[in-house]
Amino acid sequence: MRVTFLGTGTSVGVPVLTCDCPVCGSSDERNRRLRAGLLLDWTNGDGESSRVLVDTTTDLRQQALRVGLDRVDGVLYTHHHADHVLGLDELRIFNFVHRVSIPLYGRSETMDAIRHTFAYAFDANARGVPRIDIHVTDGPFDVRGVRVIPVPVQHHRLTISAYRIGNFAYITDCNAIPESSAAMLRGVEILVIDALRRTPHPAHFSLAQALSEIERLEAGTAYLTHLSHEFEHGELEKELPEGVHVAYDGLVLEADEATV
Ligand SMILES: [Zn+2]
Ligand SMILES: [Zn+2]
Ligand SMILES: [Zn+2]
Repeated sequence: MRVTFLGTGTSVGVPVLTCDCPVCGSSDERNRRLRAGLLLDWTNGDGESSRVLVDTTTDLRQQALRVGLDRVDGVLYTHHHADHVLGLDELRIFNFVHRVSIPLYGRSETMDAIRHTFAYAFDANARGVPRIDIHVTDGPFDVRGVRVIPVPVQHHRLTISAYRIGNFAYITDCNAIPESSAAMLRGVEILVIDALRRTPHPAHFSLAQALSEIERLEAGTAYLTHLSHEFEHGELEKELPEGVHVAYDGLVLEADEATV
C-alpha cells in the first residue's frame, strides 16, 4: 500500500493567511502545508487498484490535482472538524466520471455531522450533488479487500478515529491515547502522529508529547503531521531523534496493508 501525504498542515494551513513569519515566507516547498489528509492506494492480486482517502480536507481539489487523482473508492474519516471534511463536495467529479456512489466510513458522531453540514447531498431529488453512502463504523471493517482498524483516541472532549492498516497507523488531531487504544497500535512499523507545535494545546500533542507517544507505542519509524507554522521543516528534522521525521505534502511511503 502506498501512503501519500496530501496535506500535513494544521487547520489554517501554512503559510497562514496574513502571517509574515520566516516559515510562512519560506521558499522551501516542505514548509507549505495544506490541510492534513492522506491518499492510500494499493493493487490486489487480481491487478485491481483502489484509491482511498483519509478525510476530505478543505484543500482536496488542489491536493487531487497535485497527485493526479483520477478515482476515489472510499473515504475514511477521522472526525468532523472543518479542516477534515470541507472538501467533501469535490467528490462530485468522481461520481460524474465513474457513476458510482462513494462509501464514507467513520464514527456515528462524524457521520451525523457530515449529514448535517452536507444536507444537500442527502436530498434524493437534488442533482449535481455528491453521491455518497454513509457507513458507521464501530470496529474493524474491510475496504476493497483491506482490513481497516479504527482506533479511538481523544481530541480534547471528542473521541475520534485513528486508523491502523497492516503495519501502518495514522493518528491526527489527538491529545491523548487511552491504554486500550495504545495496545492496538503498539509495535506498529510506520506511525504518523499529530505534533501541532512546541507548547501544550488542549486538543493536540505538542512536539514533546508526540515524541513520548512514539516511544510509548514502540513505533519503528514515525512521521509528524498536522504541523503549524512554528516548525521550519529542515530545522525540526535536524533536532528529531533517529527514526522520527517531519512529514511534508507530497511525501510517499510504502506500507504493507497485510502485515500486522
Ligand atoms: Zn485538524
Ligand atoms: Zn507564519
Ligand atoms: Zn480536529
